[in-house]
Amino acid sequence: MVPFIDLKGQYRMIATEVEGEIKKVMDSQLFILGERVRSLEERIAALCRTPYAIGVASGSDAILLSLMALEIGRDDLVATTPYTFFSTAGSIARLGAIPLFVDIDPDTYNIDPERLAEVLRRKKVKAVIPVHLFGQCADMDPIMEAAERYGVRIVEDAAQAIGASYRGRMAGSMGDTGCFSFFPTKNLGGFGDGGMVVTGNEDLATRIRALRVHGSLRRYYHTYIGCNSRLDEIQAAVLLVKLRYLEGWTEERREKARYYRHLFREADLLGEVRLPVEEAGCRHVYNQFVVRVPSRDALREHLQGLGIGTEVYYPLPLHLQECFSYLGYREGDFPEAERLSRESLALPIYPGLTRESQEEVVEAIRRFYRG
Ligand SMILES: *Cc1c(COP(=O)(O)O)cnc(C)c1O
Repeated sequence: MVPFIDLKGQYRMIATEVEGEIKKVMDSQLFILGERVRSLEERIAALCRTPYAIGVASGSDAILLSLMALEIGRDDLVATTPYTFFSTAGSIARLGAIPLFVDIDPDTYNIDPERLAEVLRRKKVKAVIPVHLFGQCADMDPIMEAAERYGVRIVEDAAQAIGASYRGRMAGSMGDTGCFSFFPTKNLGGFGDGGMVVTGNEDLATRIRALRVHGSLRRYYHTYIGCNSRLDEIQAAVLLVKLRYLEGWTEERREKARYYRHLFREADLLGEVRLPVEEAGCRHVYNQFVVRVPSRDALREHLQGLGIGTEVYYPLPLHLQECFSYLGYREGDFPEAERLSRESLALPIYPGLTRESQEEVVEAIRRFYRG
């Protein structure tokens, strides 16, 4: 028995601390945009080494408000990967802008910078959303170079990559804005929804701060048409406690990834199981440990029969989603993303996962391929 994730185990570790902090919020009866949200914003800004951070209601809203602040709107082209969580592209489409998909690199699963540069050269693209998928940064240097050449803005989707770095720079700090999610299964997860935008651009920070309160800079006077998208004090209280553990938990995730690599090598499975590639100069934070395997669905069923939890991120690339059929993409447009959606399997990886459990996972996979 190895569960895919164990949030209850994590909670048991910090329950007393967290409950004490939540109690303080309840005693204060101040729930919206108080001192804890401000303090969390300061700490996330410090972690990312960016001057500004703005708490919002979710990672999806962090992306949406970033695009709104950049004045992305009707019929603007925004390039991104088809291999990501829905909201990366959903946020583009909700503003009436057009998601322009670019295929991925088969080793890192992130947007392919060469293909992106080619698209930016040919089309008038307004912004690009690189996603730091599963916890490793997209190849940002060539992405930023191409974006700069063609005057394209960058919104980093760092929802899965808090604490990751790329050639000395923190995930979220390289684009015009960086977007984080505090969804419970992210590396820094709240007790509900939450998100954060970081930026080095004062004007964008001011706009996003206004957009999260209906576009108002002064109460009841509205400069922009925004929305209600705030991080609340209870979430901030929980996240402030968890933030103290984040670096240790991240190191644990990295250690588990190393141990998986060791086990797969020892079991002589590298022919069947393609491991996620860690690029030089990148600190991968392993929100997920995603391997590529043949007969993925049969393997998954075999593991499930043994009580081993796995997940498929993602079974259908975004260009083939029903809601995007109006964009006119078809099967075969992005072969790397399509192949990965048939082969990808996320294995259990979380702080507290034991070595014995990891050995059980790899042994179960060995039995599937070797009988
Ligand atoms: C989780 C996630 C989001 C959205 O975050 P929510 O807080 O769930 O809205 C966006 N992009 C990626 C890549 C994610 O993993």
